[in-house]
Amino acid sequence: MIKRRKTKKIKIGKIFVGGPAPIVVQSMCNTDTRDVEKTVTQIKALQEAGCEMIRVAVPDMEAAKALGKIKKKIKIPLVADIHFSHELALEAIRQGVDKLRINPGNIGSEEKIKEVVLAAKKKNIPIRIGINGGSLEKDILKKYKDKVTAKAMVESAMRHIKILEKYNFHNILVSLKASDIERTVEAYKLLSSKVNYPLHIGVTEAGTTFRGTIMSSIGLGHLLYEGIGDTLRVSLTADPVEEVKVAWEILKSLKIRKRGITVTSCPTCGRTQIDLVSLAKKVEDAMQYVDKDIHVAVMGCVVNGPGESREADLAIIGGKSVGLITKKGKIIKKVDESDLLAEFIKEVKKF
Ligand code: SF4
Repeated sequence: MIKRRKTKKIKIGKIFVGGPAPIVVQSMCNTDTRDVEKTVTQIKALQEAGCEMIRVAVPDMEAAKALGKIKKKIKIPLVADIHFSHELALEAIRQGVDKLRINPGNIGSEEKIKEVVLAAKKKNIPIRIGINGGSLEKDILKKYKDKVTAKAMVESAMRHIKILEKYNFHNILVSLKASDIERTVEAYKLLSSKVNYPLHIGVTEAGTTFRGTIMSSIGLGHLLYEGIGDTLRVSLTADPVEEVKVAWEILKSLKIRKRGITVTSCPTCGRTQIDLVSLAKKVEDAMQYVDKDIHVAVMGCVVNGPGESREADLAIIGGKSVGLITKKGKIIKKVDESDLLAEFIKEVKKF
């Protein structure tokens, strides 16, 4: 059983992150935030896929002013992603966002930092410090001989944390993202030995769906297995809905959280006599939005299928142009290959 490290519990909108709260799945919109309709449409699709907190980029004042309209139309906490500008941060707070992602050390003068921190404090809005390996402070880079090491990343994070703490602000989350797994894991481990603020985990610039899924599964899987991480974002060069799906599969695979149907399938081999590859994909697509916590299996033959699917609630076991449907390991139907998907969906709905 995975033992999570103890972190501070923080309220973000209507949800909690850290402490005993479930590990939260989040994502980031890739729409133009100024386009409220498109952004809301994307957030709704993400909500449907299981996204529990959403971040949007706030590059200018028009985007900042759109935040209130977006927030009114969505159900999950809205996070404003801001770089450098204290005016944008203040406007985002006025618009009612639930969390800010901004690095206090990049805001500018003490006066400006103070203004943002006090405004966030007044509305009980947490701030996430987001350290990215690619944008460390020049003096820290110089100290580490231009090498973006895990230690350098943690030093940068600690610097930003201290700025907030100076104003007695402790409503903090932190992320430390590098584009490779080793540094990411090392940096999070080091930071989690120093502070108890909740950690937002992720591997940045992980790549397209194929590579990014592998990078994130290894990196985040490793951290989660060590009990590190209170919220996660899988970064993919893809539709953000894919990020949410991958994040859930990571959590489900480690049995950390449950959501919807888990579909397992055999790899197929020379014994397979039905088109199992396409059938498994169709089952997976059909199960995506079925809100039942069950396990279904799609197996290719009667030699290994029954044994391997015994632990599934429902299973398909392929034969020659036919398939058996089993429930808790017992055969309940024999169906022609052409009707197999429809009959199986009926059984899932009944279950
Ligand atoms: Fe091959 Fe049957 Fe195993 Fe599938 S379940 S891999 S078809 S032996």
